[in-house]
Amino acid sequence: MNENKTSEDPRKSLNFIETFVEKDLAEGKNNGRIQTRFPPEPNGYLHIGHAKAICLDFGIAEHYNGICNLRFDDTNPVKEDVEYVDSITEDIRWLGFHWNEIYYASDYFGQLFDFAIRLIRQGHAYVDEQSAEEIAQQKGTPTQPGVESPYRNRPATENLDLFLRMQAGEFEEGSMTLRAKIDMASPNMHFRDPILYRIIREHPHHRTGTTWKVYPMYDFAHGQSDYFEGVTHSLCTLEFEVHRPLYDYYIDLLKEDDRYRPRQIEFNRLNLTYTVMSKRKLLELVKEGLVNGWDDPRMPTLCGYRRRGYTPQAIRNFVDKIGYTKYDGIVDVALLEHAIREDLNRTAPRVSAVLDPVKLILTNYPEGQTESMHAVNNPENPDAGSHTIAFARELYIEREDFLEDAPKKFFRMTPGQEVRLKNAYIVQCTGCKKNAAGEVEEIYAEYNPLTLSGMPDSNRKVKGTLHWVSVAHSLPAEVRLYDRLFLVENPSENKDGDFHELLNPNSLTRLTHCRVEAELLKAKPLDHFQFQRIGYFNLDPDSTDGKLIFNRTVSLKDTWSKLKDKL
Ligand code: ATP
Ligand code: MG
Repeated sequence: MNENKTSEDPRKSLNFIETFVEKDLAEGKNNGRIQTRFPPEPNGYLHIGHAKAICLDFGIAEHYNGICNLRFDDTNPVKEDVEYVDSITEDIRWLGFHWNEIYYASDYFGQLFDFAIRLIRQGHAYVDEQSAEEIAQQKGTPTQPGVESPYRNRPATENLDLFLRMQAGEFEEGSMTLRAKIDMASPNMHFRDPILYRIIREHPHHRTGTTWKVYPMYDFAHGQSDYFEGVTHSLCTLEFEVHRPLYDYYIDLLKEDDRYRPRQIEFNRLNLTYTVMSKRKLLELVKEGLVNGWDDPRMPTLCGYRRRGYTPQAIRNFVDKIGYTKYDGIVDVALLEHAIREDLNRTAPRVSAVLDPVKLILTNYPEGQTESMHAVNNPENPDAGSHTIAFARELYIEREDFLEDAPKKFFRMTPGQEVRLKNAYIVQCTGCKKNAAGEVEEIYAEYNPLTLSGMPDSNRKVKGTLHWVSVAHSLPAEVRLYDRLFLVENPSENKDGDFHELLNPNSLTRLTHCRVEAELLKAKPLDHFQFQRIGYFNLDPDSTDGKLIFNRTVSLKDTWSKLKDKL
């Protein structure tokens, strides 16, 4: 099966994970079955890092005709919530992936509990009555062995009795744990009698309610859940590499025969510049009101990106481009923005919007006259069609596009100079009116009626083309500009420092006096547009008929940097 697939595969070369998978297939492992899973903990919203894992888990399954399940690793009821379960399924669907089944680690609580009892009976586990702090103090260091617990050598019957009573709710939270009895001197710290179960009595579980009073640790649940489910390739991030021997140890004790076992392969986590990716920190930003919820367009969450106008295709293209490696690093967010631009350039209709409007009056254009100008929706896509935009004597242009005393290379509006108005006439500026403070209030120009596309003078050499909207026909709008959430490239680098201090105080700018062309009245929430010469924008779902709100998805590469400094 893999042979066919690779020969048909248009992609460049295999990543190292695909190479492992193909080798396993070639060796006939697991009867040629490929099964992966995406295992989120429902304790937060998915972020772009998760997208990288999702693309791999689902991508490998799709590519090798296997299956990928969604499995919620819901072993900690204190932090988990159905709100997160719902958002996670929504975000995976949005990315365009389809799971085979939805499972929960909590589906296996019974099997895990039985396995724990088996370990106790076999002398591989014991109930420890020390506190978490005491246990931590006895861990030792990588070069120094740990200290054995005074409870380590209890008889199995006593351990069994205590463990059953832990589950019966007889003991306080924190008073006891079940620990594996492995090796307090192991060079791998994870083997130093890791905790298997802890008591959680005060928080009902989002699925099993109050059935359980003891909950398995993630390390005791993850590998076995893979095994129970039939996962063949358990793909995860590099920090789990050191956990792998422990997962293998449990599987060795659990497995019934040698025909099948999951194989864990680790890859590098995605880190992006100017943001944080830890769910704990993202939750803090939300809880402290430093952003407007999980779907704030400044967040690296998938729902935040969706609201901002990032597309699933662009995110998948980006993930494809950065690839999978065995070493951690940090990816420049500009690479993600590039992928967004590339995708929206193909798909977003071009419209006109003026973010910082100033009036332009065409003094020789008849009062009360209106023309419908022809505007191509997307020059990149001949099938995208066109729309019309109303032209009249009074227009708005971008304040930034006018200078009374312009330097030589200023090809925009300045007295005496001709510029083209996009999709309309060539006009020549004749002057302006200023208020007492010296601010430009109105700009004046004369239009040349023979310069519409197809007319005799339309091919005149004019260096600048400006966007505009009609005063009478345009709509008021709010436009939200987003800048980087943090001021520094790697806010997580400063481990002891407080990441709050590194937040960019100007990450959100609201422009409340913008004008957009009437075509945008048809826009539906989240629809994408290119505001000509400015950037890509989408309609925010909070918009109402009376109030249009647009989010800047990403700037246009070249023109934005100039404009932004002024806004
Ligand atoms: P945190 O450490 O912030 O709690 P997590 O890694 O524990 O995040 P999970 O919900 O357990 O979050 O993640 C589910 C899957 O997504 C795991 O397989 C994990 O390895 C992967 N994943 C999480 N963050 C990233 C990332 N930044 N890049 C790539 N994969 C990631
Ligand atoms: Mg995790």
